[in-house]
Amino acid sequence: MMGYRKSFVIFLCVTVIFIFSLKFFFLDKYFEDMDIKAYSIHSANQMKKGAQYLFSKLSNDVNNMYMYETQKLPYCDLPNDLGPYSIKIHDSFDNTSALAFQYANFALGGHNKPDNCTALQKIAIVIPFRNREQHLQIWLYNMHPFLQRQQADYGIYVVEQYGNSKFNRAKLMNIGYKEAVKEYNYSCFIFSDVDIIPMDQRNLYRCSKNPKHMAHSLDKFQFRVVAAGMQIERAANNISKAKAVLHHRDIGNERNPKSVPLIKKASERMHIDGLSSLNYTVISITKHRLYTKVTVDVGLPEKDIY
Ligand code: UDP
Ligand code: MN
Repeated sequence: MMGYRKSFVIFLCVTVIFIFSLKFFFLDKYFEDMDIKAYSIHSANQMKKGAQYLFSKLSNDVNNMYMYETQKLPYCDLPNDLGPYSIKIHDSFDNTSALAFQYANFALGGHNKPDNCTALQKIAIVIPFRNREQHLQIWLYNMHPFLQRQQADYGIYVVEQYGNSKFNRAKLMNIGYKEAVKEYNYSCFIFSDVDIIPMDQRNLYRCSKNPKHMAHSLDKFQFRVVAAGMQIERAANNISKAKAVLHHRDIGNERNPKSVPLIKKASERMHIDGLSSLNYTVISITKHRLYTKVTVDVGLPEKDIY
């Protein structure tokens, strides 16, 4: 049987241990508080450092996210419902403001690319141009939606010949190429007349290994064409056919009677005539919402050749 004194000693011991453990517990708490206090004493500095750290981490994250967005987007697939396309004629082509409004998210200069995928090719579309405003409006109105449906990363370059000298379509195309590469890392160049609209969305405005004729079966004679005579293209076997807007031959654009003999000699002349010998003066480069207009003075035709 335990004596009264003995049990009192045990009680005392337990109490002391209990009190000590409480003390340790509170001491810990106390030191934690001290830590916090220590922090808050240096808070100005600490917070500044903390904020800097957080900010750099955050901006890193944002950068990483951005890199992810731009680099890791999947490659674009073609929609599987591409099919015949019929040219749309807008009521008033006097100005493109309605269309420009619709594409207000475009980068100026008619450069556009898909939002949520990476296109494999960066395509410059070069249009030789002079005094065909109505055709241009119809072309833009139809071709922007067309190219967007094909998930294209593209820019439109309308190369306008300044002055009244004979229209030099090929030179304007070469100039378009030279001016476009200065602006963006284009990997594909498509040269289109302003009056040609493809008739099928499966006629891909893309480059392949070899040059490709986008409009090899012109349908000029089959259509009674609504819009001041445009051409519509449709691919061979139904895909690359295209519509041509019908029009009269422009003054200053008479057929070159020497073009056939010149073309026959092309393989001899290609090294001396063309991109390598391109002389021109840029008069202006204007960034419109739906296209970039490059106005150039191409000089006079060389007398000894023409
Ligand atoms: N072109 C132009 N203004 C002219 C002549 C030609 O803009 O005064 C451009 C336009 O892009 C046109 C292309 O050159 O579609 C070919 O000219 P055109 O349409 O007269 O040739 P064709 O219809 O006989 O192929
Ligand atoms: Mn034409």
